[in-house]
Amino acid sequence: MPFPTALPALSDNYIWTLAEAGADAIIVDPGEAEPVLAAMRQGLRPRAILVTHHHHDHTDAVATLAERCGATVYAPDDARIAGEFVPVREGDRIEMAGLDLRVMEVPGHTRSHVAYIGEGLAFTGDTLFSLGCGRLFEGTPAQMFDSLERLAALPPETRVCCAHEYTLANASFALTVEPGNPALAERAAQARAARAAGLPTLPISMDSERKTNPFLRCREPRLAARVAEYAGCDPADAVAVFTALRRWKDGFAG
Ligand SMILES: [Zn+2]
Repeated sequence: MPFPTALPALSDNYIWTLAEAGADAIIVDPGEAEPVLAAMRQGLRPRAILVTHHHHDHTDAVATLAERCGATVYAPDDARIAGEFVPVREGDRIEMAGLDLRVMEVPGHTRSHVAYIGEGLAFTGDTLFSLGCGRLFEGTPAQMFDSLERLAALPPETRVCCAHEYTLANASFALTVEPGNPALAERAAQARAARAAGLPTLPISMDSERKTNPFLRCREPRLAARVAEYAGCDPADAVAVFTALRRWKDGFAG
């Protein structure tokens, strides 16, 4: 099973690289060229560049790197993504460098956001973060809730590769929402130890996320009750819980 590597980029982005055999690799969301160029000097050979969404911190280095290493670029069909690329849609397969990934459309953070799933991994971009989820810049809460539910339905052993290191900040909000969740306390401690050692908190299993990420737990009665108490209303369903939870996080100062 190929193991993904997170290249830290910009202030808190990760550019994921994944190689099956030798150095032929895919890279995901290169918002900055230098971390990838440094890995290339160590022998990495990007054959494909996968883009999850159009935001500049995920795309700024795509054209430079595609030209430098001759990689094929795959991205959602969105005019805001510059340069040449193969447009991808729900269910498309990408077989490259001995790897096999498929595309899942996960709108919410942006309207054309996709995730790449395969090899026991999920590259979730800015849709699913460990212990959190992306802001709703373009989609509706119902769209984002549906996208997160589809990701959460992946096999529990799936390792989630998010595009940002937000775990500790997310943990502080998650612990406010679910102070009595022992799995969350354990995950927060593990993430603090990883960051103290200068290591990424990712990837993390989907099983862990389902037990700890409040945005994947909107059907939990205790969490729903806590959100209702905060919002001063009685959410009618899980989407309404998600909506109120996302709003709570947007105004959360830590
Ligand atoms: Zn984004």
